[in-house]
Amino acid sequence: TPPDDAPRFNSAAARDIEYALHPYTNHKAFRDTGPLIIQRGQGIKVFDDSGKGYIESVAGLWCASLGFANQRLADAAYKQMQQLPFYHAFGARSHDPLIDLSEALIQRAPLSTGGKPFSKVFFANSGSEANDSAIKMIWFYNNAIGRPAKKKIIGRVRGYHGITVASGSVTGQPANHKMFDLPIAGFFHVSTPHHYGYAQPGETEEAFASRLAQELDDLIVREGPDTVAAFFAEPVMGAGGVIIPPATYYEKIQAVLRKHDVLFVADEVICGFGRTGHYWGCQTFGIQPDILTCAKQLSSAFLPISAVMISEQLYQGIAEGSDAAGTWGHGFTYSGHPVPAAVALETLKIYDEMEMPKLVATRGAYLQKAMQDRFASHPLVGEVRGVGMIGAIQLSPDKASRATFDPARKLGPRWQALGLEHGVMMRVLVNESAAISPPLTISEPEIDEMLDLIGAALDDLA
Ligand code: PLP
Repeated sequence: TPPDDAPRFNSAAARDIEYALHPYTNHKAFRDTGPLIIQRGQGIKVFDDSGKGYIESVAGLWCASLGFANQRLADAAYKQMQQLPFYHAFGARSHDPLIDLSEALIQRAPLSTGGKPFSKVFFANSGSEANDSAIKMIWFYNNAIGRPAKKKIIGRVRGYHGITVASGSVTGQPANHKMFDLPIAGFFHVSTPHHYGYAQPGETEEAFASRLAQELDDLIVREGPDTVAAFFAEPVMGAGGVIIPPATYYEKIQAVLRKHDVLFVADEVICGFGRTGHYWGCQTFGIQPDILTCAKQLSSAFLPISAVMISEQLYQGIAEGSDAAGTWGHGFTYSGHPVPAAVALETLKIYDEMEMPKLVATRGAYLQKAMQDRFASHPLVGEVRGVGMIGAIQLSPDKASRATFDPARKLGPRWQALGLEHGVMMRVLVNESAAISPPLTISEPEIDEMLDLIGAALDDLA
């Protein structure tokens, strides 16, 4: 006989266990626990099937920037479905949502390499596809301009760029590689730029940044600059632990890349659209990339859509190559799908009306101070860090030595589970850091409520 708390036969939970294969799940353990079924959303909260509400401290997966209900986005989707539910953009076909969104993104883009404007936008459906497309664009470009050996890609340990074969190879997380035979050949990873986690005793942020830039330089020289094509980085590393780069890091990294003619791909899938207090993470950290990928907050997660923006230099090479090859044989059925494109366009209008980067700059300052005030001296906390509306509270048994807890104690998963009991949906990452990345619409009283609940769960952990 099943235990009393086992999901009832034919309940939604039992059918979920029977039929669904969930992303990022221990499938065997899941058979015993079953799912937490989320039924509706309102503001910064989601509600389960018993009606219990949870503040979403990570906006779902760092994506629901406008929260979990928005009539204007629902209307934009409905209107577009009535007008033109689908058309593709292969060959010489186009439609208004694709054209309008391309223009809107280029108008809002940061400066690309050499201080020049970005040139063109390509659409995909997810962050993984955007980064996969960026890799293929780089390979195609280097073939087109007569550098067929220049193909290697460098990411960073713990960086997250997706899970397709190529984007999963740039990702630097063991869980995404182990037993998947990734990374494939030609992908490399340099160190995580986390001063608290990896600096040597007494090493300043600047000295740490110089050491990491030297590591990148050494890798490129060792592999041969003629074989290294691109470096990928999230301005703030998200899923890998919310890593705020040390002072001077990107300045030094970009100098190394320029020296060896290696392209910079900024993965703005989490940082884009105001999260760090500027429209783009690139602007917060002084990055001028050759390629920029974005997704998630592009549509406030209401529908799947992602984008790749490329510099004029990349565009010229790809255009020449497509002419030589007869076509550029790349594109998804749903590249620039009119319905998500219309929703993304409405999302960008709402960001403009809310003056989103300015709002995040002020409300983010409130969040960062509230996090410091509550958690910096907590006996279980090692570091509290953040920028704009993204941050982390990292566990440590001893601030001075920056020690980590024994992983066997599973404090991260326990903290997360206690959060659920208190009514806050949390995400505790591999480095035992609770990520803080709520909807950008969160109010100051809601920030306090969210941190109170996270704090109550932390106190229970003690
Ligand atoms: N890049 C970054 C920085 C991400 O955080 C993610 C997802 O969390 C991705 C890429 C992959 O996006 P997706 O899950 O939409 O494929």
